[in-house]
Amino acid sequence: MVQPKKGFVYLVGAGPGRADLITLRGAELIRVADCILCDKLANPALLELARPDAEIVHVPKRIGPGSVTQEQINQTLVAKALEGKTVVRLKGGDPCIFGRVTEEVVALNEAGVGFEIVPGVTAAIAASEYTGIMLTDRRYSSQVAFITGREADGKEDSNIDWEVLARFPGTLVFYMGIGVLGRIAERLMACGRAAETPAALVANATLPTQRVVRASLNEIVETCRAERIEPPALIIIGAAAEGDSELDWFMKQPLFGKTIVTTRDTAGNAEFAKKILDRGGNPVAFSTIAIQPLTDSNEFLRVLTHLGDYDWVIFTSPNGVRIFFEAMAALGKDARVFASKRLATLGVKTAATLAQYGIKADFVPTVFTGRELGRQLVAIANLNGKKVLSLRSELATNDLLEVLETGGAIVQDVPLYTAVPKTGDVEALRRQIEDGQIDWLTFASPSAARNFFDAIPPDAVNAGRAKVASIGPVTSEQLNKLGVRVDLTAVEYTTDGLLDAIEAVERGDGS
Ligand code: SAH
Repeated sequence: MVQPKKGFVYLVGAGPGRADLITLRGAELIRVADCILCDKLANPALLELARPDAEIVHVPKRIGPGSVTQEQINQTLVAKALEGKTVVRLKGGDPCIFGRVTEEVVALNEAGVGFEIVPGVTAAIAASEYTGIMLTDRRYSSQVAFITGREADGKEDSNIDWEVLARFPGTLVFYMGIGVLGRIAERLMACGRAAETPAALVANATLPTQRVVRASLNEIVETCRAERIEPPALIIIGAAAEGDSELDWFMKQPLFGKTIVTTRDTAGNAEFAKKILDRGGNPVAFSTIAIQPLTDSNEFLRVLTHLGDYDWVIFTSPNGVRIFFEAMAALGKDARVFASKRLATLGVKTAATLAQYGIKADFVPTVFTGRELGRQLVAIANLNGKKVLSLRSELATNDLLEVLETGGAIVQDVPLYTAVPKTGDVEALRRQIEDGQIDWLTFASPSAARNFFDAIPPDAVNAGRAKVASIGPVTSEQLNKLGVRVDLTAVEYTTDGLLDAIEAVERGDGS
């Protein structure tokens, strides 16, 4: 664990784009900081690591009015440190590669403020490794140069020697060059670099929106204009820019470039988004549901006082477990309320959530429906005359209860939470669907489907190119009832199963 220094500034590299490419030390410092000054290029998801009470200052350096000057950033850094705070200055990529760290350090030294520099993965390195463009390769590039494009505009005090760059026998990587790409290409060619030299642009490196455009040096400007490449982007020039498709792992992932809408509650969407990102997809969160605890109901409180009467307790979702233990904590109780109870869970994730509270479930069958859980529990335990407490969502179906009762159990079903409709930015999503920007709409529960199509008419989806993927038959049935064309129903009723099924379709071996 980092021992944060007070009245001190950490100049931290946020890495190239994808949030988890930051260093471990960088992430730990974000967790403990009192104040974070954040660059535009640093992934905003990193700020979720920060303490809830940490002060976050966004310092985008744009050209034009409303922008923050380097001088203002220096002053803010000094002022926050002199207030005795642990300050993290979060910069895209590596802080010292075209990062103006020198100016910040001079200001800190003048004010007598201590500092540390935490390296980060610079954009060039990451762009190379996420595209198969090797910056160095013993066959054709034994050297690499990082160059700022800012000075291509004929600035008098430019340090760039175009003659040398034109002759450079390795890979050239230009940062901040997209606005002056034409000048860069012209200058290199004017100084003798061959017009057919391979060139590539890599935009949004390491993000699911990453793009690569290739052309020869004399055609790269036109190609980028036609492809509408936007910053941030790097320009790579030299034999390396041709790329090696053997080494391109990132863009070959089946979900790469696929925009996938998730329609769960906020926490569910965040968890699902991680899985989509891990497979190279581009998640778009659209909340349809807010989870609302019902643990202040009289029914729940009454059952708590009689927990001792039950033989088995069943949890069917991680949400249920979390809400139950939050309610326990509020009442000053803990896992000991279950001391002599036997516990069953629906799904390994529910069991894993229970384990976080120190409880090992007694029965965790690998099933995905309440009915199947009930069947298996009846098969392994003699439930005849036994008292079973089921703690679930108010919206759960009665299948589980019916099966248990058929097995002779005396069942008490107490709702722990309910889900209320809550929709995200409807207009924005509808536009994206109608413009053909969405590849998949995913539904992980019937209530998500209902709430989604209350907000967006089924015809808007049926008429477009977005495909509809459902987590299982119950959700598909609901979608059918709503008049929605279902393109795919997962075989395994989990979010991983849903993504496996989407991958199969994208690979061309699915239904
Ligand atoms: N310190 C940063 C660079 C800052 S200069 C680093 O080490 O990466 C800003 C330039 O970096 C942008 O104009 C662009 O050329 C490049 N850049 C940063 N992030 C990028 C990304 N994800 N994809 C492509 N280029 C990126």
